[in-house]
Amino acid sequence: MNFTELTIKQTHEGLKNKKFSSKELTLAYLQKIKKSDLNAFLIITEGLALAEADEADKKIATGNFSELTGVPCAIKDAILVEGEKCTAGSKILENYVAPYDATVIKKLKEKGAVILGKTNTDEFTMGASTENSAFGVTKNPHDKTRVAGGSSGGSAAAVAADEAVYSLGSDTGGSIRQPASFCGVVGLCPTYGAVSRYGLIAHASSFDQIGPFGKNIDDVKTVFNAIYGKDKMDATSANLEFRISNLELKGCRIGVPKEYFMKGIDKDVEKIIKNAVKKAEDGGAEIIEISLPSSEYALACYYILGPSEISANLARFDGIKYGLSEPAENLLDVYLKSRGRGLGAEPKRRIMIGTYCLSSGYYDAYYKKAQEVRELIKQDFKKAFEKVDLLFCPVSPFPAFKIGEKADDPISMYLADIYTVAVKLSGLPGLSLPAGKIGNPSAGSGHDGLPVGLQIIGNYFKENKILAIASQLEKML
Ligand code: GLN
Repeated sequence: MNFTELTIKQTHEGLKNKKFSSKELTLAYLQKIKKSDLNAFLIITEGLALAEADEADKKIATGNFSELTGVPCAIKDAILVEGEKCTAGSKILENYVAPYDATVIKKLKEKGAVILGKTNTDEFTMGASTENSAFGVTKNPHDKTRVAGGSSGGSAAAVAADEAVYSLGSDTGGSIRQPASFCGVVGLCPTYGAVSRYGLIAHASSFDQIGPFGKNIDDVKTVFNAIYGKDKMDATSANLEFRISNLELKGCRIGVPKEYFMKGIDKDVEKIIKNAVKKAEDGGAEIIEISLPSSEYALACYYILGPSEISANLARFDGIKYGLSEPAENLLDVYLKSRGRGLGAEPKRRIMIGTYCLSSGYYDAYYKKAQEVRELIKQDFKKAFEKVDLLFCPVSPFPAFKIGEKADDPISMYLADIYTVAVKLSGLPGLSLPAGKIGNPSAGSGHDGLPVGLQIIGNYFKENKILAIASQLEKML
């Protein structure tokens, strides 16, 4: 096996046993990224990566190092890495240089991580395909005519194509789980508050959460353990220790929400998800059909609350403080020109929707109503978790779609989020586990060979239950 195809554990073993140095490994990854035509990376942080690799090799020589020391990773370009550009996929931040490290980056650096570069994202993480990036789409490594998903499409594609051992992304309404599903890698969106958001460029602050992508459950667990925890710079971060869960498939109560298998789901996706549920049952799990009756409102609710928060969060990009500043006659003109030229269609659309929903006269009918619906959606999950340990459902109603297929139709793009937003409205953790590839029985359907992810949802701060069951299941799928 090539040394750029290894998992974290295998890479760590290789470094420990001096099969290769971090420098050699880093150089090999950098070369691979430069040759790649996927457009997974927007920025290659070569100087930083090589310096970190040298540092890691020194630590390894002393024997005092962690499982992540010297292991090359990729970071979504919405997370700040000090001294490096951070564009959030937007023209308005094209030349913006991060003045400090996000807390997750600080933590990874302390573990000796090697940061190869910053990965592509939909502009300000708004989208489900990276087609909203101002810097071109990321191609799916399984079929380059298709999208890698989004918004963390670059981070998912980088891991799937062995351009990084692992990566970080962010999930506001599905942006870790959906690209993980489309690219056939593991992606974990932690409970809201499990991981500090400090240094993540905000999309919708009551939803945003950083999480890892990896080649298997073990890798994702290692990275999650390295990044979670209370942070004084993020008041919403939780002070919790994640204890190892000894939950076993045998006896585990798995809920299957019936509303997630209704009209519109691709037949091949449904087959793969139902097969995964069956495997869990064969492994001794108790399968319980449950109902989440308010989920039908989740998408509408998300596309009111999300844009409302966006309209406030993006006000800071005014042409004065950050990034692009267009010369103009007066202050208003600076705002209009900088935002007009710097922001793309999707952020503009959401700023307008959000401003409308928050405006006096409409606030009660939209924002307030959506907050009430958000509570009903949370209650559905609360009731479900009185009966079950975990929920199993699809991540996406369809596999990776063709580049361009939905790009001009925002509503059809929003529908891609149908199975992922309720989890974020509730602040719950969710994971995408590769459950299989669309295979021969559907030959001719045009999407043979594409990966499909199973979504495993847990109760608040039960990441370790998700990971325990996912790790048993991954050997069976
Ligand atoms: N696709 C969703 C959106 O466009 C989710 C994005 C995300 O999780 N960052 O809002």
